[in-house]
Amino acid sequence: MIERDAIVVGGGHNGLVAAAYLAKAGLKVLVLERRPIVGGACVTEEILPGFRVSTLAYTCGLLRPEIKQDLRLSSFGLEEHVYDPSSFLPFPDRRYLLYRLDPEWNRKQIERFSKADAVAWPKYERFWEEFAELVEPTLLAPPVSLADLASLIQTPEAEDFLRRVMLMSIADLLDDFFESDEVKASFATSAVAGTMAGPRTPGTSFVLGHHTLGDINGVKGAWGWALGGMGAISEAIAQAARFFGAEIRTGVEVAHVAIRDGRAVGVTLADGTSFGARVVLSNADPKRTFLGLVGNDNLPADFVRAVSRIRFESSSFKLNLALRELPDFEAIPGTSVQPHHRTIIDIAPSVDYLEHAYDDARRGEPSREPFLEFVLQSTNDETVAPAGQHTLTVSAKFAPFDLARGSWETESEPFANRILDVLEGYAPNIRRAVIAMRWRSPLDMEREYGLTRGDVFHGAILPDQMFSFRPVPGWARYRTPVRGLYLCGAGAHPGGGVIGAAGHNAAMAVLEDWPSLVGKLGLNGLASDPRTR
Ligand SMILES: Cc1cc2nc3c(=O)[nH]c(=O)nc-3n(C[C@H](O)[C@H](O)[C@H](O)COP(=O)(O)OP(=O)(O)OC[C@H]3O[C@@H](n4cnc5c(N)ncnc54)[C@H](O)[C@@H]3O)c2cc1C
Repeated sequence: MIERDAIVVGGGHNGLVAAAYLAKAGLKVLVLERRPIVGGACVTEEILPGFRVSTLAYTCGLLRPEIKQDLRLSSFGLEEHVYDPSSFLPFPDRRYLLYRLDPEWNRKQIERFSKADAVAWPKYERFWEEFAELVEPTLLAPPVSLADLASLIQTPEAEDFLRRVMLMSIADLLDDFFESDEVKASFATSAVAGTMAGPRTPGTSFVLGHHTLGDINGVKGAWGWALGGMGAISEAIAQAARFFGAEIRTGVEVAHVAIRDGRAVGVTLADGTSFGARVVLSNADPKRTFLGLVGNDNLPADFVRAVSRIRFESSSFKLNLALRELPDFEAIPGTSVQPHHRTIIDIAPSVDYLEHAYDDARRGEPSREPFLEFVLQSTNDETVAPAGQHTLTVSAKFAPFDLARGSWETESEPFANRILDVLEGYAPNIRRAVIAMRWRSPLDMEREYGLTRGDVFHGAILPDQMFSFRPVPGWARYRTPVRGLYLCGAGAHPGGGVIGAAGHNAAMAVLEDWPSLVGKLGLNGLASDPRTR
């Protein structure tokens, strides 16, 4: 029996965005989320009474401003702030780079490492601004094909630009601009964050580009924090979806997409309950969706093979801490709140350091000297920790899902301690400061958060898996081989990150198809085109 217009499997931020747009258009929408809370990888959770941490995703900026506006997210409690300083990199010799939103300040910071690099920096900035100007307008639409992209190339300069962005490694690109290893390392971090690739891997230049597409309160390319942590973003979207009429149920796991005559007609829950719907959108990742919820028998063999071959490898390890005092960095001493505490902090002293951290992971070992990125949300946001105490969330990149020795069940605690060892080298008081620590390994991310192989982005975001190749070539427009089934999560264009674009674009695909879907079924109740309501 058809009880709903649309069922969204999964209440990650993208599923919620899709639900909100569909409900706003007048469809009767039901979201089914297996966890007790919505948000998926974009959540805030309590790790100790009074200490609330962005368990997985930890910085905002990518969520499309159009979505914030359309869904009126500020009226549903979303409050984002730009980090300024924008990042802090302490080095083992106690020097540091502290970037701000102020170009003149940054030029002087870089000059302390290389005068030539300070001169080159504005050109480098301009390079990425051009990338953002080109790509940003394409995010809230189905992906452009490679052929269309190629047709834009009219000059040798444009061709070289495309080469540098799509084909080069970040290490090579940075060598084109800079000489100081510290300066290069400070920019290379974003090119390998969330990607199982070293800075010398071709395509990492593009990954950096993906991370420049942010916009907070009109500040382009910015990263920042949301009041209440990342979960506040998902909560605001959920509230918007409810406001527009969507129903959201948590603690319910979908076991199968119900398919009749090659068409999605609803879902069956793990407890056997069934819900009928005219369309189903899946916010689960492509492997989970197609190989799990749909099943190989309902799909063409070449599609199954393509989905099986999507690289799910970009796993990381999160260490979440409750602290009694702030890290006392040797580079800038002190445990009272200072500007460097209030931004994104990277432990990545050189390009080689990043490459070695990746090399270990490639052999199935957690990095001996891990690349760490962390934030102390409580220094900006007093809602997440008791007064005078703090939260710290560390992302240790390059944590391989498959370990050469042992398993994450046994290796998590030693690795968490290794992370603290590394931090201790920069802020010797860190162990003394810890009140509680909780980790999430790649295995935990798969089991608890439904991220296949712990992949933080529902599939690697290197260029061969982006644009019209995401999730697989031929199926990049949110529709799937099962009529009435749509993919609305990060496994679809434009990929991972708290962007909301995949959810938006999938909802638009549903609305575009709606008249033909309803017409073909001969259903009258909702036969009018919801886009006109
Ligand atoms: C450790 C980590 C750090 C990250 N850091 C950042 C960051 O700082 N900034 C940033 O922008 N991005 C970051 N990301 C990436 C970003 O969080 C994700 O790309 C994004 O949140 C994915 O959103 P989504 O809605 O597409 O999918 P998800 O958040 O994965 O949501 C999918 C939802 O579907 C549910 N689900 C799955 N199967 C079923 C089922 N059978 N039945 C019912 N429900 C189901 C899941 O429980 C989940 O809630 C990070 C990710 C991770 C894992």
